[in-house]
Amino acid sequence: MFEKSTWIRLPRNVVVGTDVLDRTVEAVADLHLAGRPLVVASPTPWEVAGERVAEAFAAAGDRPATEVVERASYPAVETVVETARAEEAGFLVGVGGGKVIDITKVAADELDMGFVSVPTAASHDGIASARASIPEGDTRHSVAAEPPLVVVADTGVLADAPWRLTTAGCADIISNYTAVRDWELAHRLKNVEYSEYAGALSRMTAEMLVERSDAIKQGLEESAWIVVKALVSSGVAMSIAGSSRPASGAEHLFSHQLDRLAPGAALHGHQVGVGSILTEYLHSGEQGRWRAVRNSLAGIGAPTTAADLGVDDEVVIEALTTAHEIRDRYTILGDGVSEAAAREVARETGVI
Ligand SMILES: [Zn+2]
Repeated sequence: MFEKSTWIRLPRNVVVGTDVLDRTVEAVADLHLAGRPLVVASPTPWEVAGERVAEAFAAAGDRPATEVVERASYPAVETVVETARAEEAGFLVGVGGGKVIDITKVAADELDMGFVSVPTAASHDGIASARASIPEGDTRHSVAAEPPLVVVADTGVLADAPWRLTTAGCADIISNYTAVRDWELAHRLKNVEYSEYAGALSRMTAEMLVERSDAIKQGLEESAWIVVKALVSSGVAMSIAGSSRPASGAEHLFSHQLDRLAPGAALHGHQVGVGSILTEYLHSGEQGRWRAVRNSLAGIGAPTTAADLGVDDEVVIEALTTAHEIRDRYTILGDGVSEAAAREVARETGVI
């Protein structure tokens, strides 16, 4: 008996390239979204792009409401929800880096409204995905939401963003290698549902980025183009899988644990990149591809050591030995890595 079914939610309009910010209204109108837009941004993205987007909606007669949020946290989600209700918004437009995109995504989900993603930094793969990560206290919640209906990624805006945000986005994509390995392992050992298509797409996305890493340079729109297309592709792989598995394995658990132990020390992408070096070594040992992962990261200028991340060696050991406790997601960490093993892998890979 055949009893499988799947429901894939994808972004509908993905608009990427030079000066596409000015096509936001057009990309939205194409979807027949009703009502007023609520444009959500944090202070810097508001100046860089948010104001321009709001003005374009105003010029089109859409009477946009606006909300400039200071911090990415649950209270900010509530603020956006309240403003959307008070202003009788019909859909939400998130303009900013990862945090604003995540807040707006979760608020849109709570309001059951359409969501438009306008990233101002190519810093992580949440810009086109259905997953959002929201900090609360000393931890982060990864929550399910809907993917954006529209993604507008202006390569001029992205190329002007701080360079470290772009290298973080690259590292988040490079980590797909180990995420897919963990997913395959969980499939073999725990019968976790696996999608060949999503796994292949995620891995190919990482491979294409690594192959073109020589062309990824600060300030170039072409570089922003390569990175943001990979981030969208990574988000699509997660949509196809119906989970974050294609882009989130043990290296992400390691990063979440660093968030707890050393809050704000480094960017998400940079943390998962270092995590990937460690978990690739755990998968295949000395002879494995961990050097290729490390060299790719080093090539684009992303951190490869605890010192680069700005965390103590002991914090790395603690994160690696406790990361398996975070969530019910089977990975190469299994039921935990011993302290001695963690020290060995961290030393052998040069992370500490
Ligand atoms: Zn990530």
